[in-house]
Amino acid sequence: MSEIRLHDTLAREKRAFAPADPARVTMYVCGPTVYNRAHIGNARPAVVFDVLARLLRHVYGETSLVYARNVTDVDDKIIEAARAEGVEPAVVTRCYEDFYLADMGALGVRPPDLAPKATETVAEMVAMIARLVATGHAYEADGHVLFHVPSDPDYGALGRRDREAMIAGARVEVASYKQDPADFVLWKPSPPEMIGWDSPWGRGRPGWHIECSAMIATHLGTTIDIHGGGLDLIFPHHENEIAQSRCAHEGAPLARYWVHNGFLSMAGGEKMSKSLGNVVTVGELLEQGHKGETLRLALLSAHYRQPLEWSEALIAQSKATLDRLYRTGGAAEAGEVDAGVLDALADDLNTPLALSRLGALQDPAALKASAALLGLLGQDPQSWFQGAGDARIDALVATRAEAKQARDFGEADRIRAELAAEGVVLEDGPNGTIWRRA
Ligand SMILES: [Zn+2]
Repeated sequence: MSEIRLHDTLAREKRAFAPADPARVTMYVCGPTVYNRAHIGNARPAVVFDVLARLLRHVYGETSLVYARNVTDVDDKIIEAARAEGVEPAVVTRCYEDFYLADMGALGVRPPDLAPKATETVAEMVAMIARLVATGHAYEADGHVLFHVPSDPDYGALGRRDREAMIAGARVEVASYKQDPADFVLWKPSPPEMIGWDSPWGRGRPGWHIECSAMIATHLGTTIDIHGGGLDLIFPHHENEIAQSRCAHEGAPLARYWVHNGFLSMAGGEKMSKSLGNVVTVGELLEQGHKGETLRLALLSAHYRQPLEWSEALIAQSKATLDRLYRTGGAAEAGEVDAGVLDALADDLNTPLALSRLGALQDPAALKASAALLGLLGQDPQSWFQGAGDARIDALVATRAEAKQARDFGEADRIRAELAAEGVVLEDGPNGTIWRRA
């Protein structure tokens, strides 16, 4: 069994990964807030943790992993979007959850084992908040319930920021009802016309951080093996998750390994943001004709902890790499996973090294099996090489195959030449003919 090593944000070093129970490895990744289409930066954690999930299943066994990714379906941004559209929040969240699943599916991301929704976990959140209030870690003020940060002496260990930076970084308003400026909201009041639930503190809705803490405790357990998410979630979101969970569970840690992926930037190093107008959604990229698998490979081309610069050149390069891989191993039956590729992935998910070793493999069966570990080469070469609207080429290829069968080689050669004139190259192999544009 290859040893997996993961960089743990809390320890600030790579550590040998040893799950608490190898028969039930638990992983939680913060999922989408469903009120708009995912941009390509949002897709990075989904793809990265999909690869980690594939690796864990390979090493510990197909049924050994329980992977949960939540769906935040109650949030002020959702409420705003619903109000702007004049619909119920559930209409917005259903629509964008479907989009999210379709977009990630196009990128070859397998659905997680569990995808709990915030709106279906409110009772568990209320129970956890009540426990925090009862143990003196939270208090009610002005219809809100707040976590009292000074009640947790270990607060801030994940991000290791000083107190001033944390208060400034949280960008929360310094409300008069707060006992301490660093205190954060667990529960907030909802007016009658707004989405809300009854609670011991009146009708309201949960804050974002408590959602993940309650879902982890409900679906995975008190202490999980791996907690993942983007670098931008370390503070305040994960710091707050850690504090809530630990204080609600008599000091038990929330996660044994904290794994964070780096940012995606646009060419020139600009951060992708609405205000800069350079947001590219997964949906737009697919509509431009890029294949999901090409985008997936592009997302895996840099190490997950490094920044990734997104560009047209990167997409083109990824497409060319996949063309080459499909030609070598696309049609093969999967064999044994290559040890070099597996070692690269086991070493803190070194996907650039894994991809370069993949590219050097000569054995199609090993290539096919190893690529699957990265979620690549999942199609047959025929469907990979053909784009939309290529039915006429398919038909000509089929006619040529019939001609060859009938030993009419003149006709077969005529069709080959006709297609070559259009820049379509035919490759005859043991599993039939595949074609590609030269
Ligand atoms: Zn979370």
